[in-house]
Amino acid sequence: MQREPTILTLPTVFIVVPLWLTVPFAAILGAVVGSFLGAALIRLPKGESVVAGRSRCDVCGRVLGPAELVPVFSYLVLRGRCRACQAPIDPWQFAAETGGALAGLVCALVARDAVMLGIGLVLGWQLLLLGLLDLRHMWLPDRLIGLLAASGMVPAGLAAAGDANLLAGPLLGAALGFVLLWLPGRLYRAWRGRDGLGAGDPKLLAAMGVWLGPLGVVETLLGASLIGLVAAGALMLSGKAVGLRSALPLGSCLALAGFAVYLAQN
Ligand SMILES: [Zn+2]
Repeated sequence: MQREPTILTLPTVFIVVPLWLTVPFAAILGAVVGSFLGAALIRLPKGESVVAGRSRCDVCGRVLGPAELVPVFSYLVLRGRCRACQAPIDPWQFAAETGGALAGLVCALVARDAVMLGIGLVLGWQLLLLGLLDLRHMWLPDRLIGLLAASGMVPAGLAAAGDANLLAGPLLGAALGFVLLWLPGRLYRAWRGRDGLGAGDPKLLAAMGVWLGPLGVVETLLGASLIGLVAAGALMLSGKAVGLRSALPLGSCLALAGFAVYLAQN
């Protein structure tokens, strides 16, 4: 039986807007969002509000002017220093802005339409913040992981509106993601009497499983292991790390690998 076309048709804007326009637009939007993510990265661990208060210099407290709020660009022009007190601006801010722009750029190049682009950006920017938080603070906040899972249920729910069987992928992905990292962690604790894995890692992989499905979870874990090994090797070769203990946190590797798997899936 031929099915009627679904009501959720793709927006026509993408047919009109050419790639040479969407790619820089997504990159600039990504830098702006990355600027907000950078503020979250710096303020969340201190327990400060992310939305309240204007951006100021962390050292002299001067409220930043409009020109200084332009992401990436202002950092390059001011050479990473506050214009008033010459204090270095947190390089993590620059990392978040560059990462946000890169995620936007890659998503715009890969996405087939505006809906895909939007969904990819929602995933990419969340993974960027989680990855940077784990890298900087070894911290994966439950609230952000919950948000990642909940936002993944939106496209999953829309896709399953016509066929409830399609919910099996996200649910299986979440369950498998959790078990794959929770079980080794439990076994390690039973064996050695201490934690070998971060408590947030199984939850993160579970939330990513909603987006990626069971196969994507396995691919993400393999990819993350590979990234971790390569990074650890590079750090050891450069003399910056003495052992695997000082290697990249697993959550950061998972975030990077998961985003790559998502892009490859779509
Ligand atoms: Zn200053």
